[in-house]
Amino acid sequence: MVRTLAKISLVLLIIVSLPMGFYLVREFSALSKNEEMVERVFSTQLESILYSINQYSENVVQQWSQSLDHPVDPQGELMQGLTENLFAKNEALKAVRFSDLNSREQQAVYFADSVFTIDRWPGQSQLDVLRGYLESNYQRVEVEPFNDKLMLYFLPKNRNGEQLCQLVVERQAFIQQNLSPMIQQVAHDIFYISIADSLSNQVLFTTGDDSGLAQTMAYADMWYLPGHRLGIRLKSKTLVDLATERTQRDNYMLMGVGLLVVLGFIFVVINIRKEMKLAEIKSEFVANVSHEIRTPLALISMYSETLLLKRVKTEEKQAEYLQTIHEESARLTGIVNRILNFSRIERNRIKYHFDRIDLQQALPEIVADFNAHLSAAHVECQCESGEPNTWVMADWESLKTLVGNLLDNAMKYSDKPEKRIKVRLLKKPNQVWIEVEDNGIGISAKHQKYIFDQFYRVTEGDLAHRAKGSGLGLNLVKRIMKAHGGSVSVQSKLGEGSTFSLKFPRKEKE
Ligand code: ADP
Repeated sequence: MVRTLAKISLVLLIIVSLPMGFYLVREFSALSKNEEMVERVFSTQLESILYSINQYSENVVQQWSQSLDHPVDPQGELMQGLTENLFAKNEALKAVRFSDLNSREQQAVYFADSVFTIDRWPGQSQLDVLRGYLESNYQRVEVEPFNDKLMLYFLPKNRNGEQLCQLVVERQAFIQQNLSPMIQQVAHDIFYISIADSLSNQVLFTTGDDSGLAQTMAYADMWYLPGHRLGIRLKSKTLVDLATERTQRDNYMLMGVGLLVVLGFIFVVINIRKEMKLAEIKSEFVANVSHEIRTPLALISMYSETLLLKRVKTEEKQAEYLQTIHEESARLTGIVNRILNFSRIERNRIKYHFDRIDLQQALPEIVADFNAHLSAAHVECQCESGEPNTWVMADWESLKTLVGNLLDNAMKYSDKPEKRIKVRLLKKPNQVWIEVEDNGIGISAKHQKYIFDQFYRVTEGDLAHRAKGSGLGLNLVKRIMKAHGGSVSVQSKLGEGSTFSLKFPRKEKE
């Protein structure tokens, strides 16, 4: 059995564990690849968000430049109105200056509030670039730092590249008034978007009260705010947190699946073991019963044949043979009845007729039924009748089966020259016990746990091995006691004897 089990276990192990193992290894290696891909996709998305913010700031300054691009005289009333309108709408805009591109002469200057000197002129190369754009019909706006502010400049299309328009813009106000609403909208509840000084990393603006730049996931330089950069990160967790969490979750799941497979494997092996043990026990049972039946059958056929052939001369001998036939057929009936009872109980077909029975009166009567049997086996049996009023609810036939089985075993499992059995009735607070004590071979502690299991037989020791039996008797006793709401237990010492106790719930007399 052990070898077959080992074989089955090995096959199961190969069938289940190998693919599982491959799968786990593959999953673990795939995890890090997936992580990389997620990170790539994620940072591309973040970059595109930052790009859209930059694009938006370009649109803002483009709109300013377009509204100032006019064929009218820069000093005229219309331009005055246009710039005032622009100042009113954009707090960040502090000054607008128009100059002749060739002579560098100032043509007009407008201030939002305070007046200051504007003494900056773009480099020739930048102007050439702007001219180039203008030739392709595109009015580009350039930017450069101007003291603590910014200087935006462009060549108005309507002035044919002869004029330079410069705008002085305050950074903080530009961020707060012109960019902040759009950034808040993009950030939503999901991101923190911040603007920080590129050199010092000092946060100048953020959509939340968060200033944890260390956890920023993506950066981008700001096109119209030189020396500034945009940063973005997830509000709740960093990507590293998310990735770790996901990996951990996946790992736990994989481990869970692995554990389930191992448990399933153990479960299957245990079940196979049980089934194999049961098959073994059943085949032993068939062998035992056949063995038990064969002896009485052989005796009956031998003695009846002798009688039929009239080979027996004396009448005493004839009577003796007939007695043997009678006893052996009674034994056969006993065996068959036990098997039938067992199978009836097994299929829940047995019907109990419970009556109120006073065991003090009933027990001696039941034991007396076995007296002939006991004295034929030279067994001395004492029955202590106990206290009066020991009432129980019991089925009379079952009581006989219970006591009969225990007496049978007490006789069978004894190799002492003087076999002694004591049957006692004990009155406990809520129970009534019938105890059957013998001075037989006893049962070792390791077997005591199993003797009430079906088909279980002790095969250690000479007598236990030789004695005939089916391993059903004590299981029958256990099941009948359960149907009576009681139980059976054993106390035994190897070589000294055993005491079996049938424990019934006590029924008070009404
Ligand atoms: P069996 O048909 O083998 O007697 P039982 O279910 O009646 O089956 O008993 C199970 C096993 O318990 C027996 O094989 C025997 O080894 C052990 N046993 C039962 N009663 C006694 C006893 N009085 N003394 C020693 N061993 C016993």
